[in-house]
Amino acid sequence: MAEFVDLETQDGVRMPWNVFPGSKQESINYVVPVSAIYTPLKHFPDMPILPYSPLRCRTCRSILNSFSVVDFIAKIWICPFCFQRNHFPPHYNSISEENLPAELFPQYTTIEYKAEASTKPVSPPVFLFVVDTCLIEEELGCLKIGLAQAIALVPENSLVGLITFGTYVNVHELGFGQISKSYVFQGGKEVTKDQILESMGFFSKKAKPSSGVIAGVRDGLSSESIGRFLLPASECEFALNLVLEELQKDQWSVPADRRATRCTSTALNVATGLLGVCVPGSGARIMAFIGGPSTEGLGAIVSKNLSEPIRSHKDLDKDSAPLYHKAVKFYEGLSKQLVNQGHVLDVFACALDQVGLAELKVAVERTGGLVVLAESFGHSVFKDSLKRIFQSSEYDLGLSFK
Ligand SMILES: [Zn+2]
Repeated sequence: MAEFVDLETQDGVRMPWNVFPGSKQESINYVVPVSAIYTPLKHFPDMPILPYSPLRCRTCRSILNSFSVVDFIAKIWICPFCFQRNHFPPHYNSISEENLPAELFPQYTTIEYKAEASTKPVSPPVFLFVVDTCLIEEELGCLKIGLAQAIALVPENSLVGLITFGTYVNVHELGFGQISKSYVFQGGKEVTKDQILESMGFFSKKAKPSSGVIAGVRDGLSSESIGRFLLPASECEFALNLVLEELQKDQWSVPADRRATRCTSTALNVATGLLGVCVPGSGARIMAFIGGPSTEGLGAIVSKNLSEPIRSHKDLDKDSAPLYHKAVKFYEGLSKQLVNQGHVLDVFACALDQVGLAELKVAVERTGGLVVLAESFGHSVFKDSLKRIFQSSEYDLGLSFK
């Protein structure tokens, strides 16, 4: 038993078995399946840190480790994942059974590498808040407080942007100055990156390049035009708080027999497009705060007519939810776009009603995002979770934004 705990302390891995089944029959006979629980970002007080970059497998990019088979005479290591034979680079020439590099020490199964400082400047983290406004006043008030706290906690150098949505999608131009200004998109229509470039004035001062991909500072956009929507946290706190203070629930009245027009998918579509245009390939998260079911756009999960009930677990199980497949298809497309751009989607779903996570989750899972579910934006589950994402102390997530 001690060994079991020791292993978890050393590697953050817990497994029900310490050997793999030797045959198919053995594996069928196992009552408890072969499985592993891994704790990412686990804190190891005595973590060995190697002052160089790891060696990578030519084929699968996994790294040289103490489980690799090494041929010391031919100076070759065999990747344990794909069995590719890799040559050691010249600076590993002196390796032998007695002279091992630290990553091959049998006890060094979990180590950190501290790569040499790269010459490229590190791009700051980006947080794009996407906020549902189809909420009752009380909920909106709680959400505003949570957001204001989050804005105070984000690292000062990080870039921050704000999109609000309801019947329409509003992209707020935080860099505009003393008054608030926003660009409005229809809730029911998909928006492409080109439409974002065209309609949000990215080329008002400068001619649009006639060919090639236009994205980010490297590929044709000026940093001033990007800075209108994504600002350093230290500069936009005032503007952002001003917008939040003035933020009201969606202005379009909802008849008693209808659901609010909530275009969640279009808002996420615009957010993804905006990040793709402004900061492709750099660390950015869309943080979506959703307070009810999506009823408009390609990711709608239910019609606006209240007489039609929201799909239940049974409907999903029997595959009889009419809008399910269309919505999932939309979010699969969105997740591909996010993955290509290297961006993450987080969802904070706080409502007593369903918000459509079954449809949306593919985009969160594939981008490595996180989901927080609570019954209200005033609930401590929401408030504490949001704080722990940004803080870094022993019990927080340690997402290392700083
Ligand atoms: Zn490999």
